[in-house]
Amino acid sequence: MDKILRINMGAAGGPKATVTPVGAYAGLGGRAMTSGIVSKEVPALCHPLGEDNKLVIAPGMLSGTTAAMSGRLSVGCKSPLTGGIKEANAGGQPSQMLARLGYAAIVLEGKPKEGSLYKILLNKDGVKITPADNLKMLGNYDTVEKMKAEFGDKIAVMSIGPAGEMKLAAASIACTDMELRPTRHAGRGGVGAVMGSKGVKAIVIDDAGAKMRSPKDPEAFKDATKRWVEGLRKHPVTGQGLPAYGTNVLTNVLNEAGGYPTKNFMWGRFETCSKISGETQAALENERGGAGSATHGCHRGCVIRCSGTFYDKDGHYLTKQPEYETVWAHGGHCGIDDLDSIAMLDRMDDDFGVDTIEMGVTIGVAMEAGLAKFGDAKAAINLVNEVGKGTPLGRILGSGAAVTGKVFGVERVPVVKGQSMPAYDPRGVQGIGVTYATTTMGADHTAGYAVTANILGVGGKVDPLKPEGQVELSRNLQIATAAVDSTGMCLFIAFAILDQPDTFQALLDSINAFYGLKLTANDVTDLGKSVLKKEREFNAAAGFTSKHDRLPEYFKKEPLPPHNVTFKVTDKDLDSVFNW
Ligand code: SF4
Repeated sequence: MDKILRINMGAAGGPKATVTPVGAYAGLGGRAMTSGIVSKEVPALCHPLGEDNKLVIAPGMLSGTTAAMSGRLSVGCKSPLTGGIKEANAGGQPSQMLARLGYAAIVLEGKPKEGSLYKILLNKDGVKITPADNLKMLGNYDTVEKMKAEFGDKIAVMSIGPAGEMKLAAASIACTDMELRPTRHAGRGGVGAVMGSKGVKAIVIDDAGAKMRSPKDPEAFKDATKRWVEGLRKHPVTGQGLPAYGTNVLTNVLNEAGGYPTKNFMWGRFETCSKISGETQAALENERGGAGSATHGCHRGCVIRCSGTFYDKDGHYLTKQPEYETVWAHGGHCGIDDLDSIAMLDRMDDDFGVDTIEMGVTIGVAMEAGLAKFGDAKAAINLVNEVGKGTPLGRILGSGAAVTGKVFGVERVPVVKGQSMPAYDPRGVQGIGVTYATTTMGADHTAGYAVTANILGVGGKVDPLKPEGQVELSRNLQIATAAVDSTGMCLFIAFAILDQPDTFQALLDSINAFYGLKLTANDVTDLGKSVLKKEREFNAAAGFTSKHDRLPEYFKKEPLPPHNVTFKVTDKDLDSVFNW
């Protein structure tokens, strides 16, 4: 990974590609690379859909190697949803393949004439950019089929659906999985709208003829990656819980804890949640059968395999196993307890190219506004269909919960910096509330997953209903996450590395053996801090102040049943998160 591909989509005479050495960005990967480039090269006050924004796509530091779990991809830009810096993280095959082709980053710059649409082919021979008018307003599934027909089935594809072409702020970028299905999304923050503004419909990656990246010290790397896999396999969450039930195992856990946001954050428990729990979902998938139904990895080299495949009642493939956050957003948040409807909504989101969290939360807000009744799955499907069709209502919904709340006069809109909260109520899980409020990303559970110590008893224990200890917990997790997101590792490794020092050491040893470095745990912490510092500086220049590091006020006023708690962490404490 020694080169950066820059494509000026607005160049006179058509898009122009330039390959440059990685230069000042050497050694960076994933989020450190995307946030490094965006913070340095994108004017903080630019319009997110304008020519000065850049879409940066970066494999992680260990992507393209034999290290397990290393295939996550970072996509960064100025976000049209939040107005701040964005890193959206996705699984699927593109990261490994880009890394093997030697790309440390792909940077889409400039802006073509309105209405132009292109596809980009990357292979061992270089870059080819061609018009893609025949793909206009196609869903991601049809787009991938066309790419397969043209380039064969050994490729990976990153694409946008109609939502990205319409430049809607909830638009995602789809990444294909091992079966070449567009099921893994860089979902958050409207990165798909930025790709749409660059006039890029699809990036096709073909790594035929490219070699696996080779480590500086092969023996030490082999030894470290072996210990790494052993550590992941022996931890109960990464070795047993996630493979057996997927992330949706959390539904019952969060519901029991009273932190499961129900019907637009009105209650902390959903009375029929057992109908959509991970246990029920796994039983249904096992009963229906089919390849990869029970357990499945989103990319080659994943040993946790938290995912699965969802087949409909007639045994036809419908979508990947909807994740916990998706099941919650389209399920409990909207009062819907039917897994088939939720899976259909997941399929539609993936096809139209919208973030399942943003879309589900938006539908819940629309339900509060009276556009549909809580629990009405058919109405939810109709509303999401409006987005795919691009009707005026659909464009409002596809712009996310904050816009929808404003348009329909809803006060209770669960967003921070314009981005929807995921599946943990900040009153029932106060540590995640600190993360939602303060992360550079807008409300984002993955930015500092305090559910670990608040609810799961991983990496210590902090009472989820009290403010004490939450700031320190969120701070440490935000720093660690920024570093993990730079390695290309799936965030679920956090369970094992937080609990098992030898597994953390194995990860560190893998990086050191690969790059010939001598990094210590302190260096990892410093990397995380430096990423956060750059991101915060960008956001400050974009106009964000401490006043934006707050939850909507109703979380401080409305007690959440069943524990009847409000969010108790003070503003002063929130302002101390980044004092390290
Ligand atoms: S654990 Fe799940 S999300 Fe992570 S890489 Fe594997 S399948 Fe993808």
